[in-house]
Amino acid sequence: MAHLAPLVVVSGPSGVGKSTVVEAALTLAPDIWLSVSATTRAPRAGELDGREYFFVDDAQFTRLIEQDELLEWAEFAGNRYGTPRGPVLEHRAGGTPVILEIEVAGARQVRTRVPEARLVFLAPPSWPELEARLIGRGTESPGAVARRLAAAELELAAASEFDQVIVNTDVGECAAALVACLHEQPKN
Ligand code: 5GP
Repeated sequence: MAHLAPLVVVSGPSGVGKSTVVEAALTLAPDIWLSVSATTRAPRAGELDGREYFFVDDAQFTRLIEQDELLEWAEFAGNRYGTPRGPVLEHRAGGTPVILEIEVAGARQVRTRVPEARLVFLAPPSWPELEARLIGRGTESPGAVARRLAAAELELAAASEFDQVIVNTDVGECAAALVACLHEQPKN
């Protein structure tokens, strides 16, 4: 098989700061490509279709699954999220390292389908800190926050399945660790 550039999966509970860390990693290493997922969730204020996500309806998401266009997908807090397969492969084949920022069930699917992928788990410094961040960012209704906290408990229990656990005490340090991971040779 032709050599493919590394694929790194960043996972961890909602509110842990995945997006902030990934954004900082992209600033440190602009050669990395962040995959854009499809979701049935409604856009938040400021989110653009095709930039943060491809916002699709339920029927469109089902079609993506049926046509085998998703590398992985999962349901999270009442919505579906999935990684379009084609662009990930194209970037890797062209020599560009790829990051997926996804939840734990999706990370498990990538582990099975792309054995050489590196799985990184971003953990909060503490549970109270995670609660405070999720409530404090104010993007979700109280019901949605509760669903995300319930999911977070399950996600934290999965940390040991990952190749690397990074505790998010410092965004810059986490970003640097992520970039190091992406510039490593893929494991075999
Ligand atoms: P949010 O609604 O906060 O943007 O994302 C909710 C959760 O879904 C986050 O943990 C995020 O990482 C995850 N997520 C985003 N895109 C995907 C995807 O393509 N697949 C999976 N499995 N999870 C995703």
